[in-house]
Amino acid sequence: MSVTVATLGFPRIGPRRELKTALESYWSGKSDRAALLAVAAGLRAKTWARQKELGVDHVPSNDFSFYDHVLDTSAMVGAIPGIYGWTGGPVDLDTYFAMARGAQGAEGGEAHADCGHGCTHKAVDVPAAEMTKWFDTNYHYLVPEFSTGQSFALSSTKVVDEFLEAKAQGVHTRPVLLGPVTFLRLGKSHTGDVNREELLRALLPVYEEVLRRLSAAGADWVQMDEPCLVLDLTHEDRALLAMAYEALGKAAPAVKLMLTAYFGGLGENLDEAVNLPVAGLHLDLVRAPEELEAVLAKAPKELVLSLGVVDGRNVWRADLETILARLEPVAKGRDIVLAPSCSLLHTPIDLAQETALDEDVRSWLAFAVQKIEELATLARALNEGRASVAGPLAASSAAAAARRTSPKIHDGAVAARLKAVDAAMTRRNLAFADRRGLQAEALGLPAFPTTTIGSFPQTEEVRRARAAHGKGTMTDADYEAFLREETARTVRWQEEIGLDVLVHGEFERNDMVQYFGEQLSGFVFTKHGWVQSYGSRCVRPPILFGDVSRPKPMTVGWWTYAQGLTERPMKGMLTGPVTILNWSFVRDDVPRELACRQVALAIRDEVADLEKAGAKVIQIDEAALREGLPLRRGDWEHYLDWAVECFRITASGVADATQIHTHMCYSEFNDIIAAIGDMDADVISIETARSRMELLGAFADYSYPAEIGPGVYDIHSPRVPAVEEMTGLLAAARSRLSPEQLWVNPDCGLKTRKWPETRAALVNMVAAAKQVRELA
Ligand code: GLN
Ligand code: ZN
Repeated sequence: MSVTVATLGFPRIGPRRELKTALESYWSGKSDRAALLAVAAGLRAKTWARQKELGVDHVPSNDFSFYDHVLDTSAMVGAIPGIYGWTGGPVDLDTYFAMARGAQGAEGGEAHADCGHGCTHKAVDVPAAEMTKWFDTNYHYLVPEFSTGQSFALSSTKVVDEFLEAKAQGVHTRPVLLGPVTFLRLGKSHTGDVNREELLRALLPVYEEVLRRLSAAGADWVQMDEPCLVLDLTHEDRALLAMAYEALGKAAPAVKLMLTAYFGGLGENLDEAVNLPVAGLHLDLVRAPEELEAVLAKAPKELVLSLGVVDGRNVWRADLETILARLEPVAKGRDIVLAPSCSLLHTPIDLAQETALDEDVRSWLAFAVQKIEELATLARALNEGRASVAGPLAASSAAAAARRTSPKIHDGAVAARLKAVDAAMTRRNLAFADRRGLQAEALGLPAFPTTTIGSFPQTEEVRRARAAHGKGTMTDADYEAFLREETARTVRWQEEIGLDVLVHGEFERNDMVQYFGEQLSGFVFTKHGWVQSYGSRCVRPPILFGDVSRPKPMTVGWWTYAQGLTERPMKGMLTGPVTILNWSFVRDDVPRELACRQVALAIRDEVADLEKAGAKVIQIDEAALREGLPLRRGDWEHYLDWAVECFRITASGVADATQIHTHMCYSEFNDIIAAIGDMDADVISIETARSRMELLGAFADYSYPAEIGPGVYDIHSPRVPAVEEMTGLLAAARSRLSPEQLWVNPDCGLKTRKWPETRAALVNMVAAAKQVRELA
């Protein structure tokens, strides 16, 4: 029996983000297409050679993308909406980028404005395709669009071209395709009358053609990604899978299909999955380790199993001996492929670049390259016996043991504190209805109070100063003085234009999660640990490796300084525990909710210190609470329970007269409205401008009792809304909620905006609030 190694996909951005640089240079007109193509080809060649050299048997191709593999699939099948002016034939690079980013040139060539870490939006005047999160990752794909009478035709031969390109370099690859059923499921239609079965019927011939061409080019295996297999599927959905693979299995008899499911277990789709007419099936045994036995029992003998035993979604080194013990009996009975749980797209590339990391923490980590080494070691142990890799196995066990017992991870005081959390710590003293009067008295705000979400423009100058300070070319004292001046100016200006609850502007923060992570114990940061978020944009998530505590106050100094400049209430600004968790790589040796509770206790202390310093209003942002929702509905309740509890731990230690705000920068609330109610914040600010307040319906239907600041203008575009536009939105809000509930604020923080439009928009916003007050 043989054991081989696959990767399912490798990060495409390059170890030093070479693709990002090349793309942005091309987009800005600084370099030409040939230069971009050359960088891309160079990256592909290196990636293939590297994987081969590391011991990968099934090296993937077509996992490379200039922007997004879902968009590549739309191009492959010719699903190009009419507005892009494509009239058939091969989809060229400019059409492709127009779909990805909209027409160029808007906003100084920066088509996507985003309000911060992870939450992405497009400028409204750019007709790019819609973008949304790929399953429960922070990778964003471009949503395929289908219209009435949609037809498909092979319109890009990228997958065949890249197979041949690798072949010419002596690498026989296993091309990756996004499977037709998942592709259709991720798409949407504006017309609402497209039937998925009809679409699939129209789509399958294109996939069949692709398989025939790959076969002719010499491919023997093709990887078909169908991660929809881990979602809640209906009978109809499962019938579509059967229909698709019935057809594709016959399209090119010489090509074997490896069907991959990842990001979870197959659950009730398991019977269907193991019986589809494909040659191989990949399982995510990191998210669903318990499914191995059921699959072994049910899968036909000749089905090749690809076992995702190394975590493709996290950065921890695997415990190889433990995995081996599990695999040895399996490998005796059948051919298996060892793989990461999912494509390595979601991990940073190479730990070897992280020379500045804490040595111990570093010894517990594995990035994409190291994960491949782990798979190669496992395969060798199974093929040739453990003795053949005794060294690497011993090193893995030693690292696992060291990590289990390291004092860097385990902090007795944190554990004791966590144990002492009781129900009282998750409850405010009084109910909202009774807190409200106390807060009104303490704050003395007008009706329709105005505020902002926290950050003010992070100008070129602010970024330059931060970079200079980071490099050591600007002294601490100079940097501090610079930030004080920025803050003071911003506070004075907010007073001048008549905002009611002020903010200090967040100039000292690089990122709303990193700023806190850097001051908490239990986190480390990488230098090159970039992971693609969308297109050329990458994020570098903090690594939460140990028990979390707060050595000292993190924001009180800046808050005190800012409050000292004004008589008006200054909001304390914090990032909530769930958001810190959801935007980090989280330790895998304790449950997520436990790590989250630790962060919650640390932020709770910060809340208490802000209150002690005199803050009457404290905002705890939970920008990423919703995106942590599990893929299956059955798991939502558990997640929401602990997420809400964590928020309440942070927010409930204050006096009833202290007003707790939260902010969520998105607008899909229907699924989580009850959880939002349970958070028991006094005020929530949300994104509503683009939906024209429609989503307030969810709050009205739920009889949401507390106060709400529905965003009255979209901060993702430089457009300055007129006063009447905002009074109109406020009128719409009033028709759904009672006037005493309403605050007036923008959709989100203003850090990506420039000062001129920010000034103009906020002046109008204050005027709109005044008008609405007079009417009331
Ligand atoms: N307080 C943060 C800011 O204003 C919130 C950002 C966010 O919600 N993404 O930037
Ligand atoms: Zn926001």
